[in-house]
Amino acid sequence: MAALAGEFRDVVKQRFSNGQQRRIFWEDVFQGPIGELMLSGQETQAREALQAATMGSGELHFGEVYLVGGGPGDPDLLTFRALRLMQQADVCVYDKLVSKEVMELVRRDAELIYVGKSRDQHTLPQEDINQLLVRLAKEGKRVLRLKGGDPFIFGRGGEEIETLMEHQVPFQVVPGITAANGVSSYAGIPLTHRDYAQSCLFTTGHLKDGSVDLDWPALVRTGQTVVIYMGLVGLPEICKQLIAHGAAPELPIAIVQQGTTQRQRVVAGTLASLPGQVEGAGLRAPCLIIVGEVVRLREKLAWFAPSPAAE
Ligand code: SAH
Repeated sequence: MAALAGEFRDVVKQRFSNGQQRRIFWEDVFQGPIGELMLSGQETQAREALQAATMGSGELHFGEVYLVGGGPGDPDLLTFRALRLMQQADVCVYDKLVSKEVMELVRRDAELIYVGKSRDQHTLPQEDINQLLVRLAKEGKRVLRLKGGDPFIFGRGGEEIETLMEHQVPFQVVPGITAANGVSSYAGIPLTHRDYAQSCLFTTGHLKDGSVDLDWPALVRTGQTVVIYMGLVGLPEICKQLIAHGAAPELPIAIVQQGTTQRQRVVAGTLASLPGQVEGAGLRAPCLIIVGEVVRLREKLAWFAPSPAAE
């Protein structure tokens, strides 16, 4: 950033003979969208914007979008970058999945716009969300698009930035800890292990017309861990299909409710037993399913003890 500023030092000096004006100009550059472009590694765009601003043909303030992964729930799992952008946004467009503890860290006077989605009842269709982001940015706002977990893992982040690209809205993407990582850590289930799992597969268990349409033969391979997002409702069907495709009924499986938060609950069993254990257990979304021998390690490795009373 200093090097970039150096390139434009003389031009800016000529443009503003007054030191005070110069200082304000540079402050706007460093703290505004040009600085943000630079810090997120978009040097060419930053240089172009600075060039235009020094020539009086471009703005120092223009709208931008931060597509930020808010992690699985525990606010301590946010990245530094996520937190910094959360604190400087003018408006926050957020999902159901973002925990209330994380929402607490969004700048106090930012406008909050809730866009859903709970199962089967999409508060705002995806296309409308895409357009909303464009509109807010075009109004000159710093728009925080805050999502649970990681924006690029079952987060439809790709679709949102595609629309931003089409409309030439500057943006950056901030990865978050995806549920598979956060939840498995806090449940004491290592996703890989030298003896039990050499690979790990993330998939979605979302029901379509009452059935789960997955590549079952790929899921029942041994020596791997399978993590299933959005699988709470489909759990009985998932267990049934895995067994039907050759998985051992004794294969360990766990379902974790609201992992990494004080509301975390883990129910562990086998493919044969888990649907029965979960029935009537009153698990609340979001829930993540982990299948594989590694689930057994939890008996030894579970370390996180949530205390719901601490909420
Ligand atoms: N982008 C998100 C996933 C969105 S899909 C990510 O990277 O984590 C929503 C699914 O994520 C939920 O149905 C659930 O399966 C999972 N999930 C997200 N947060 C969770 C949490 N704290 N505990 C358990 N499951 C979670």
